[in-house]
Amino acid sequence: MILPVLRDAGFLADVATAAPLTASGERFCLWWLGQSGFLLQWAGRHALLDPYLSDSLTAKYAGSGRPHVRMTERVVAPEALAFAGLVTVSHGHTDHLDGETLRPLLAGNPHLRVVVPEAVRDLAAARLGCDAGRLDGLDDGADLEAAGFRITAIASAHETVERDERGRCRFLGYVLRFGRWTLYHAGDTVPYPGLAERLRSFRPDVAILPINGRGPERGVPGNLDGPEAAGLARAARAAVVIPCHYEMFAFNTVSPEAFRAEAERLGQPAAVLRAGQRWCAPGEVGSRWA
Ligand SMILES: [Zn+2]
Repeated sequence: MILPVLRDAGFLADVATAAPLTASGERFCLWWLGQSGFLLQWAGRHALLDPYLSDSLTAKYAGSGRPHVRMTERVVAPEALAFAGLVTVSHGHTDHLDGETLRPLLAGNPHLRVVVPEAVRDLAAARLGCDAGRLDGLDDGADLEAAGFRITAIASAHETVERDERGRCRFLGYVLRFGRWTLYHAGDTVPYPGLAERLRSFRPDVAILPINGRGPERGVPGNLDGPEAAGLARAARAAVVIPCHYEMFAFNTVSPEAFRAEAERLGQPAAVLRAGQRWCAPGEVGSRWA
């Protein structure tokens, strides 16, 4: 089992002590929570992106032909993160929309804003045990302001840009804008025509991209592989790229080395985090502001 660099009380202490550094409002911090989950802190505000902080998939698939053996220990219990004002959910798969993570968050913070693809609003409400009207739905190209963050939805292709019967995208990524910063969190996606150009128009400071790749042997929809993620970040002119979606489940993981090597070859600044690790800008690896 991989141990997070920080977890539980140590992790929470790191989050608490990073805050004073944002007094100018100029600095923001990210922590990798494993899989596609991140905690974002800016100017005393906190957002959670696709948090998966339970063992619900391991339990669901136990004894099946596709066991979801957890590779990395949980960083922190979801109920300890009830200070977050916003959660974004990229799509309906449980490693991104986990009832066992989201229900304690909602219970701990009745004001929590929960942004989901409009196409999975009903599924999300069922997982969270709440009224569908309690959630904020977005579709490709739409945006809203929540908990101090401006959020714009961008279609993702997992592995195609799939739409429901009303034409709404089932898989989304989100561009979050806060202060002078812009962050893109892809959720699950493969490259598709026009994605890089669209992202480039946002001038992303950070692109968070999956790197686990795809292959029929895994039996689940795939994602960017490491070299593709580095290439997409480069094409989108992201100031720094952070890889994710590996080291959570033994059947669906990859080493970040191919990502790292391609990013280096392309001259694309990258930050490869360990679970529970903090990354802040400006001032850390791969920042054009350093
Ligand atoms: Zn996923």
